[in-house]
Amino acid sequence: MKLTLLGAQDTVTGSKTALRFHGASYLVDCGLFQGPRELRERNWAPFPSCKDVQGVVLTHAHLDHSGFLPRLYKQGYRGPVFASEGTCALSRLLLMDAAHLEEEQANYANVSGYSNHRPADPLFTREDAEGALGLFVPKKRQEWIPLADGLSCKFIRAGHIPGASMVQFSVPTSNGTQLLTFSGDLGSYRSMTMRPPDPLLETDVLVLESTYGNRSHSEENVKDAFEKIALRTFARNGVLVIPAFAVGRCQEILYLIRMLENEGRIPAVPVILDSPMSLAATDVYLQYEEDHALGAAFSQGEEALTPRFFQASRTVDESMLACMQDGPMVVISASGMLSGGRILHHLKKRLPQAENTVLFVGYQAEGTKGAVLQAHQQQTLRIHHEEISIECEIATLDQLSAHADRSELVRWVGSIEKKPSLIIVNHGSPDAQRALAQNLKEAFHFNVIPACEQKEFSLFPH
Ligand SMILES: [Zn+2]
Repeated sequence: MKLTLLGAQDTVTGSKTALRFHGASYLVDCGLFQGPRELRERNWAPFPSCKDVQGVVLTHAHLDHSGFLPRLYKQGYRGPVFASEGTCALSRLLLMDAAHLEEEQANYANVSGYSNHRPADPLFTREDAEGALGLFVPKKRQEWIPLADGLSCKFIRAGHIPGASMVQFSVPTSNGTQLLTFSGDLGSYRSMTMRPPDPLLETDVLVLESTYGNRSHSEENVKDAFEKIALRTFARNGVLVIPAFAVGRCQEILYLIRMLENEGRIPAVPVILDSPMSLAATDVYLQYEEDHALGAAFSQGEEALTPRFFQASRTVDESMLACMQDGPMVVISASGMLSGGRILHHLKKRLPQAENTVLFVGYQAEGTKGAVLQAHQQQTLRIHHEEISIECEIATLDQLSAHADRSELVRWVGSIEKKPSLIIVNHGSPDAQRALAQNLKEAFHFNVIPACEQKEFSLFPH
């Protein structure tokens, strides 16, 4: 078997791995490169021989794992896309939203003349996204899916977001059946709303993510930490602005706020969710109970995810009104890494006012606006071609991350009963990959190779 990493080799985005086995060819994940322009430009390169691909297997719905599918469809791919049921439901939301944004940006660029390409084209359209979604084949977890040449694969719960799964391939070889497992993105054991990743019984080769491979989440209890930040912001009559991924993070924060309100630890202030997609994502959240950590809380349905003075802003007008409202209040909006979306309007208004707080709750990839603001080494942030001065408080709560941190990744690998002969570490900055590889070598004496050092592997030789 030949394994080739086509993305997430030296970064956290663009996850795409090609598997060749005899005449069969499969892709594990089909993600978009996101973040700085140099990375995003990789999305425009034509995908070689997409018509040879017999199938795509998705770990989860986040766009850095699924967002290239409409582009693949546009280039002629018509094979199946295997995904868990939760991933199918969330992919519909995320891919249609991404296509809509692509079309809007291309229109804006054409009207304003702000583009190097004339006319500016979207990377893909809603029609392409619909086409790609038509190829999805929902599968239950733990069910072996037969593929070509004796290969098969199955999904195993990974935590992270609803539907998120590891993918395990069963590979027939002259030495018997060998197992190859992709971790996808692994959830944290500390999540309040999601179950932790399932333990893996055995695998011969493991492809492991390393988003937080060189970092540990804070040990401080997340409720205590959030309470402190909220109370001091509200005492200043400030606005607590939380950039968050629409799928997963928004729901975890709403749950946390409602819990602290119920316990009388923070006052009930207006909480505005300015992200139409996360409203839809909440419905999917409530549907896929097998992923939740809190059966009882979720059986109360939406109430557990609804702060007392909750407002959802659906239209652009409602979003603009939220920008004008005075504190104390909370605004939650996407995108989580400030790469676009309604959050930018809120920041334009709130950054120059000292009473406010911007609270980061998710991973900020290198080179993104989010990473720049989080580092807080500059006096201003460039938004929509304007320099906005930064006077407010900037805070981070990494305990709310949807990713396992360094010690959790090591813990999960340690729980594999029959040890792998090779671990390939991908989906992280080169520093994170190397740090995690070193950690695993020291802890378990595994053969570990960071993807930033090697992109092609011949597995299971005779
Ligand atoms: Zn993810």
